[in-house]
This record gives sequence, structure tokens and C-alpha cells, in this order.
Amino acid sequence: MELAKRVLRYLKPYKGRIVLAVISMILNAGLSILFFDRFQDLIDTMIQGLTTGETTLVQLNWIIIGIFFIFLFRGIFQYGEKYFTAYVSQNAVKDLRNNLYQHLQSLSLDFYTKNKTGEIMSRTTNDVGKLEGAIASGAIGIFSQMFTLLGGIGKLLYDNWSLTLISFFLFPVIGYVIDVFNKRIRKVSKRAQVKIGNLSDVLQETISGIRVVKSFGREEYEYDRFEEENYANFRANLKNSQLKATLTPVTEFLAAMSFIVVLWYGGRQVIAAKMTPGELVGFFSLLMYITNPLKSITRLSGTIQGALAAAERIFEIIDIQPTIKDKVGARELTEVDGYIHFKDLVFSYNNDELALDKINLKAKPGQVIALVGSSGAGKSTLVNMIPRFYDPDSGEITIDGVDIRDITIKSLRDKIGIVPQETVLFSGTIADNILYGRLDASEEEIIKAAKAANAHDFIEAFPEGYESEIGERGAGLSGGQKQRIAIARAILKDPSILILDEATSALDTESEALVQDALDRLMKNRTTFVIAHRLSTILDADKIVVMERGKVVEMGSHEELLAKDGLYKKLYEIQFNK
Ligand code: ADP
Repeated sequence: MELAKRVLRYLKPYKGRIVLAVISMILNAGLSILFFDRFQDLIDTMIQGLTTGETTLVQLNWIIIGIFFIFLFRGIFQYGEKYFTAYVSQNAVKDLRNNLYQHLQSLSLDFYTKNKTGEIMSRTTNDVGKLEGAIASGAIGIFSQMFTLLGGIGKLLYDNWSLTLISFFLFPVIGYVIDVFNKRIRKVSKRAQVKIGNLSDVLQETISGIRVVKSFGREEYEYDRFEEENYANFRANLKNSQLKATLTPVTEFLAAMSFIVVLWYGGRQVIAAKMTPGELVGFFSLLMYITNPLKSITRLSGTIQGALAAAERIFEIIDIQPTIKDKVGARELTEVDGYIHFKDLVFSYNNDELALDKINLKAKPGQVIALVGSSGAGKSTLVNMIPRFYDPDSGEITIDGVDIRDITIKSLRDKIGIVPQETVLFSGTIADNILYGRLDASEEEIIKAAKAANAHDFIEAFPEGYESEIGERGAGLSGGQKQRIAIARAILKDPSILILDEATSALDTESEALVQDALDRLMKNRTTFVIAHRLSTILDADKIVVMERGKVVEMGSHEELLAKDGLYKKLYEIQFNK
């Protein structure tokens, strides 16, 4: 119930509208029941006219006018009920989705390496969507059903209590059957949700990796994988539907049994003149009518079970705490000189193998530190420690002598520029993408940054210039162009510390020269850590750090390291065929 309470907390801000919805529901239910009262009178009035020969036409007219107004007002309150319910449930879901997204943004990188994108997306869209329906029909809608049901039963008892009790004798049995079914439905719908999560994983992976799929000619293989997951999803859903499909006829048949008894017993009462025909017809019609809310309530428990399963998955994420957080009393990093010092830094991703093993490294302001080493040596891990994407297990990193864990994350990252190997561009215009570096930059500043990044000319060559829309992930731009946009973004940010992961993919010579020139300008006067793949970068570096299995094995200038005749020399020979 803890879970349901957490969901209901999202309704709290909309109390006023909930009250309006509930008032509409009460009036709506009341008017519906009142109709049966008038209907009963109508029949008796007709029979009276027929059997006694009295003129009951005026009476009949009045009853009809009454019924007209009952339906008119009921319509108005039905609108209120539906509108206010939707208002509350849609708002609550919007808030929940915002909360979840904000939380996702706050989570540290380890969360994203541990969880699949498809799964996370499925929770923010499918699961949250499921909750909306459940809140509308369940948390709020249930009142409407309850009012009709309780009002109806109240009237039945008032009119003829013995007949009412007889008609309800099978209800405990029906309740038991529903309970058994619901337990199974809950289980199956949980399974169905896991399946849909798997399906979105496959979808997400293969769409974002479509180039890889195609280049390996694995379309059929991926189709088979998708088909398999889709089939499992279908099975789980069908099982769910099958259970629901069985539940309805079984409960309805049981309900029909009690109707038969009512007709038999009521018929005897009418014949014995203990009841008028109108009373029996009215009684029976109302009894039939309240089976609707009863049915909705039984269906509802299925919906609510499904929604609770969805809520569980949503709150599971909301309950995850970011692993990297601001320390209490962390201070702002304002001016940075650029002394960076790694002291005995040790880090492992999952405790079994050290990704960084006792790293000691010093960088002075404006220096370029080139990191080299074979793949998996720990170069990316090392640079990822500087913006605190991960925190060390032991040891520390200081900037100008201050442990970076004593600095607020936001102010730390504000001072660090990162140009990744693979440029990530977001949908929007080219200008938007450069602006990502510093949101309050002016148009002149954007153009200045683009010029410094050697990007201005090609941007201007587009018909819409800086306002050109970029396709998904920068489709339509060449690799070199994307890199230069990323460089412009970093120049605009103007960080004191720069982290550069050089692209391994070769560009054409002209593009290469333009990118290199832009990078040189970007690196000027910043303390730069570069994961080096280009010879020129290594030659120009102030210090080359050679890494192997999480350790720094050699350090020095190009000449010094070559003279050592160690790992560096080997790597150098392999990589540059020297
Ligand atoms: P490099 O950048 O030199 O290629 P990395 O820093 O990426 O090396 O990797 C160093 C080691 O850490 C490797 O053994 C790699 O498998 C491991 N590693 C990297 N990222 C993760 C991660 N997110 N989770 C677990 N292990 C990782």
C-alpha cells in the first residue's frame, strides 16, 4: 500500500479539482438512480390507467418531464466528472514524468552503464502512461462506481430489503472468483511488462546501431531476435487477455443466477399483490444497472494491479540515489589556474579488477598531457575522473590544490570542456548545438567560436547558415564538420581544463588539417588531457603518459621515451609504422 500512497501523493496538488470531480460523480450517480424511481412510477401509472380506466395521462406527462430534466442534468455532471478526472490524472502523470526525467538527469554515469536505454525509455513512456489510465479510472473513477453502487443498493434495500438480500446471496462467491483471477492477472501483467521492456531494448539497440547491423549483413539475425522477443511479448499479453476474457463470462453467469432468483421470487410477490409490477420492473432494472459499476470495479482491479506493477518499476528508478553527489558544504570553484594533481588514485568499476592503479600525475597550467596506451589501458577512465563522472576508491585529484570532491559538481564541470571521440549533436539548429556550450552566449560569440573552430565557412555555405536544422545525431554533416562543431561548442564554453578524446577514424587530409588547426587554438592556455591518436599531438605534448592495465608505466617527452626503448617505443612503432 506504500506504493499506492506514493502514487496518490501526486494527486495532492489537484485537491480542488478532485472535489469538483467527486461532486459531479455524486450528482451523476444520484440522478441515474432517481431515474429508476421515476421509471417505476411510470409503469405503475400506465398499468393503473390500463386496469382501472382512470385518466392518468397528466401524471404520465409530469413523469416524462421529470425524466427529461434528469437526463439533461445528468449529462452536465457526466461532463464535469470526465473532464475533472482527466484534468487531475493528466496533471499527475505530467508531474510524475517530469520528476522521473529530472531524476534520470541527476543520476550518475554508473546508472547508465548498468541499465539499458530501452528499459529506461520504456519506464518513462509505457509505465508512466499506464499509470495515467489507472489514476483516471482507478484512483478517482472508483468513486463514481462506488457512488452508483452504494446509492443503488441503498435504494434497493429501502424499496424491498428481503428481495435485495436474496439477490446478493451469490456475491461472496463472485468476490472469491474475482480475487483468484486478479492474483493471476497481476503476475501475468508483470511478466508482460518485462517483455515489452526487452522488446524496446532490442529496438533501441538495433536502431541506434543500424549501421553496424547493415555492415555485418545481420538484418535477418536481428529480425529473428526481434521476432522472438515480440512473440514472447505476444504470449504474455495473450495470456493476460485470456484471463480477463474468462473472468467476465464467469462472473456474469454467476450474477445471472441471482437475477433468475429475483425474477422468480419477485414474480411471486407481484402475484401475491405484495409488490406492484412497476416496483418489480424498477427493482430489476436498477439491479441490472448496478452490475455495470460492479463490473467496472472488477475490471478495475486488473488495471490497478497492472498500474501498481508499473509504479513499482518507476519508483525503483526514483529511489536510486546518484552515486556522485555534492558534499555538504562543498564550495564553488571560481578562478582556476590549472594545476591538476592525481595522488595515488585507485579506482575499479566493479571491484574485481583495478581500472586505475595508484595513478600519480601532475599537470601545470597550460600544459598538454598526452595519454597513450593500448585499448583498455585506462585512458578514458583516467580522464573521466576529472569531471567526477566516477569517484576514486582511494587517493584524490586536486585542482589548484583543492580536492575535487570538496567542490560543487556544477562549478567543477563548468570549468571543464570535453571534446569526445564521437561528437554528439542534438536535434535543433547548428546555432543551438554550438550554444550548448554556454546557453547565454550572444550571436557574435557563437560566430566567433565557429570561426576559431574553422567551422564558420562550411556553416555559412548551408542555405540557412547557422539556422540549418541538424538531422538526427548530425546526419548530413561529415565527420570533420561534426568535430568542428564540437570544438566550437567547447571554445564557447571557454573552460580552463580541457579533455580531448581524439577521433581514431581518419579524416581526409584537408579536413584533418582544419580540425587540427581548430584544436590547437582550443588547447591554447588550457590545461589539456588528450587521449592521443595522432602523431602530431604526441610530438607537441608537454608530457606523454604511457598507460598499461590501469597503471602509468612510462612518462616523459617523446625523445626521452623513445630513448628508454620501452612500451612507448613499441606502441609508437606499431601505431605509426616507424
Ligand atoms: P582505454 O580508454 O584506455 O581504452 P578504458 O578506460 O576505457 O580504457 O578502460 C579501462 C578498463 O576499464 C578496461 O578493462 C575496461 O573494460 C574497463 N571499463 C571501462 N568502462 C567500464 C564500465 N563502464 N564498466 C565496467 N568496466 C569498464
